[in-house]
Amino acid sequence: MTKQRVDVRNRDRIQDLCDRVLDGASIDKEEALWLFELEEQADITDLMAAANRIRQHFKGNRIHLCSIVNAKAGGCSENCKFCSQSSAYQTQSPKYGFVDAEPLRQASEEAKENQVTAVGLVAAWKGLREGPILDEVCDRIREMAAEGKVRPDASLGLIDSQEVANRLKDAGLECYGHNLESSRRFFPEHCTTHSFDDRLKTIGFLQKAGIKICSGGIIGMGESREDRCDLALELRAIGASVVPVNFLNPIDGTPYENMEALPPMEILKTVACFRFLLPDKEIMVAGGRTINLRDLQSMIFMAGASALMVGNYLTTLNQSVDQDLQMLRDLGLSPDWKPELAEEGSCADSSCGCGVTPKNEEASLPMGSF
Ligand code: SF4
Repeated sequence: MTKQRVDVRNRDRIQDLCDRVLDGASIDKEEALWLFELEEQADITDLMAAANRIRQHFKGNRIHLCSIVNAKAGGCSENCKFCSQSSAYQTQSPKYGFVDAEPLRQASEEAKENQVTAVGLVAAWKGLREGPILDEVCDRIREMAAEGKVRPDASLGLIDSQEVANRLKDAGLECYGHNLESSRRFFPEHCTTHSFDDRLKTIGFLQKAGIKICSGGIIGMGESREDRCDLALELRAIGASVVPVNFLNPIDGTPYENMEALPPMEILKTVACFRFLLPDKEIMVAGGRTINLRDLQSMIFMAGASALMVGNYLTTLNQSVDQDLQMLRDLGLSPDWKPELAEEGSCADSSCGCGVTPKNEEASLPMGSF
């Protein structure tokens, strides 16, 4: 039997980069890209072990749980190739208009029972502008915030003015989900109805209003490892508090229906690289984990993830919340959101994904690029 040689210098370099991150320094693009390009299983497991150490150092053993509600489904004017809700594609996705208060009350109740931090209202449309829909959205956010069961989040597409962002903030919104999806270079490959810069502009309005940003992307669309690296660097540059990482779930009827799945170890490596680049952020594993990772799901935390999207996704199914909670217990991790912090408005951790603005923290202003 031939023995495979493992380059021990790689382990030393991974450890050096890990030590730098633990000391509070950043790694640069060339160093990050080297991590993304690691191929050998032994190197990837060394990388994961280091990412796990970084997670524990910055985030401890608490795991944020979030869930989402499809507040308006299907018929979207945009053409994101991964999405079953685009009107450009023939899919089995449900279609309905903006929901009223009752389904959201139920979702908040269920989330609270399951120790879930936040419920995000997600809508399949291009974006939000002044008008009766914005009034309704603000009413729903106000109602959820007043109930106090979970933190209301929202992911409602593009915003084209500062006034809209300010109104969301005034309604009680603390955190807005708006993924960059991929690198600037790859973005036009998956969407041509709006641009990467439209997304950055939206994030700028939200940050100026004092709303925290939940922004990440989706991997497995045919992008390169450098695209994934550039996405993480861009998210670092904009100062996203929560970084959802989705893995493509190829939906019948979309242009990506036959896309080959990424190997699970490539996915875990990507999560670990994100932890190196965004050491103190909530890295949240979101859509596509069950179908892509199968038995390796629990390894996401050992690869550096610190947050989990639970419950069913917008148009696809997930494993049950009970199974997710058991998985966390088995790993010695705990779902941990302290609603009393929200009441006090004084979270001590500026990078925490709880959405409560730490005392004295200025809203970060629009981004530059890395
Ligand atoms: S904007 Fe959102 S809902 Fe619309 S097609 Fe793109 S991902 Fe889907």
